[in-house]
Amino acid sequence: MPIIIAIDGPSASGKGTIARKLAAHLGFAYLDTGLLYRATGMAVLRTGGDPSDPVLAERAARALDAAGLIQGDVDALRSDEAGVAASKVAAVPAVRAALLKFQQDFCAHPPAGAAGAVLDGRDIGTVIAPHAQVKIFVTASAEARAERRFRELQNRGLATTYDAVLADMKARDARDAERAAAPTKPAADAVLLDTTDLNAERALAAAIRIVEEQRDGD
Ligand code: C5P
Repeated sequence: MPIIIAIDGPSASGKGTIARKLAAHLGFAYLDTGLLYRATGMAVLRTGGDPSDPVLAERAARALDAAGLIQGDVDALRSDEAGVAASKVAAVPAVRAALLKFQQDFCAHPPAGAAGAVLDGRDIGTVIAPHAQVKIFVTASAEARAERRFRELQNRGLATTYDAVLADMKARDARDAERAAAPTKPAADAVLLDTTDLNAERALAAAIRIVEEQRDGD
């Protein structure tokens, strides 16, 4: 049985960087599940539709070529526009159901014969892989997350303000935490990792320690 590591948490908590580096460190496959929702949201926007429309959102999720997506160029999906569209389609239960099998197959058969998989998202430890051997819930204060996101957008040459980023982040957090379908919340057996005062290197070291402790405990 492959070893599954579930990394959940809100946006800009650092979970993506931690998950990617952890997977490289362990030689495991890595899946950024946010990309599935981002691609679904952008597909609806491209047809001129509203990502909150459950019929359009479900159709886009069902039509998604997830395997092709994660092997392709996903840079365009990192925009805030895609993040907002993602959080709207993600609140539609039929969208989550349509994307479930791909994620569970990834866990059961990590690509390239890897011995395990690291998945990051919002509901990995609670819905996608409740059986994961290691679950980490990555958090940071809203201000620290907005600051990181603001700097990232500035580095990419996108004009915005810290206040606008913080407001967007809080709106997206609220949508993700308050939705009925798989809201963002730590699994009962998840270990909390607060990255407010940690740089990327120290956050990764903390995650590696958690993995070692959890795996030793099995
Ligand atoms: O993690 P990322 O910021 O790429 O996710 C974009 C949006 O997709 C999130 O705000 C959330 O609404 C949704 N999402 C989700 N479940 C996941 C991954 C992402 O609902 N497993």
